[in-house]
Amino acid sequence: MSRPGSPQALRDLNRGRVLEALREYGDLSQAELARRTELSQATVSNIIRHLRATGDVVTNDGPGRRTTVRLAPGPGFVVGVDYGHRHISVAVADLDHDVLTEERIDLAKDVSAHDGMAEAARMTERTLRRAGVDRNEVVGAAMGLPAPIDRTTGRVGSPSILPGWVGVNAGDVATEALGLPVRVVVDNDANLGALAEWWWGAGVGYSDVVYLKLSDGVGAGLIIGGHLYGGVAGTAGEIGHTTLDEYGELCRCGNRGCLETVVSARRVTAMLAPVVGEELTISEVVRRAEDGSRACERLLTDVGLQVGRSLADLCSLLNPQMILVGGELAQASALLIPAIERVIGRCGVPAAAESVHIKPGALGARTHVLGTIALARREAGAAAVFNS
Ligand SMILES: [Zn+2]
Repeated sequence: MSRPGSPQALRDLNRGRVLEALREYGDLSQAELARRTELSQATVSNIIRHLRATGDVVTNDGPGRRTTVRLAPGPGFVVGVDYGHRHISVAVADLDHDVLTEERIDLAKDVSAHDGMAEAARMTERTLRRAGVDRNEVVGAAMGLPAPIDRTTGRVGSPSILPGWVGVNAGDVATEALGLPVRVVVDNDANLGALAEWWWGAGVGYSDVVYLKLSDGVGAGLIIGGHLYGGVAGTAGEIGHTTLDEYGELCRCGNRGCLETVVSARRVTAMLAPVVGEELTISEVVRRAEDGSRACERLLTDVGLQVGRSLADLCSLLNPQMILVGGELAQASALLIPAIERVIGRCGVPAAAESVHIKPGALGARTHVLGTIALARREAGAAAVFNS
């Protein structure tokens, strides 16, 4: 321990800031590190020399590529569990974000939290064994749930679409069920989608990214200034519960006419059913739209126009560089994105509308499980920085 205020204490503090930035952003050049930490280039350069000598960081320099610094992959592994409405995925990765094994199973409807977690625990056991990892080597674990998690209580919020989980402290339940040597951190799948796309997908290299999840639930994960933004109670990005029509359909959150009552995947298939005579899947709706079905094309375009109305406000408020469309309805992005762009252009603040790019997410069905790996890795990194 160094004396507070001593030169040694200042060096420790600066070193902590550099490690923190590398943990948060991955590879960075020394100039970027200086900018992120607000330290001088000379100070950063001294710290990096020291951290290279101690083996805490490595530098990558190849021909035609800028020299970057990253954390040395330490010993230890992370576990990520994606707990969906109808599936569970489990992945094991090393601290370099490389996924070693992955497993996915389908889940019966409305399985209780207890039974679902028992299944997740068996899958974790199997994936660890397959990866050749002892559970004592696990230094970070995270789980995703398609529900808002209240940060102050750790409980699954009431607008949950997971009936078996309402009021449950998801972190406690998961930590106990998985029996790993670390606490399991839990976040909602829109936030995990944002983290995953930002680390591996279409958001790589951007600092301000909105990930829009368009499935039965509608939500957004917000990366602001290079940080995942959750808000005070973890409900930031609940775009699905912004009001489109005050006297519209009653929403599961208790309000009326929320965006989610108008544009969810379930709503699209339910609206089509009386016309086409059956409940189609979203992929069938998209295929029919491509084959020239006027009803399917009209509905999917309207989803884009309606979601675009809420996104236009979001753009004016946050001024993001990138909006990534994910979730089940992202299969329709060829119709959705031009419609979203049209409304943002019409309703957004012009400078914000002009500077935003809208693209489909790049990771598909693996998005959320990769997000849990990014979150687990971040937690493991936080512990390492804290303990060093
Ligand atoms: Zn609502």
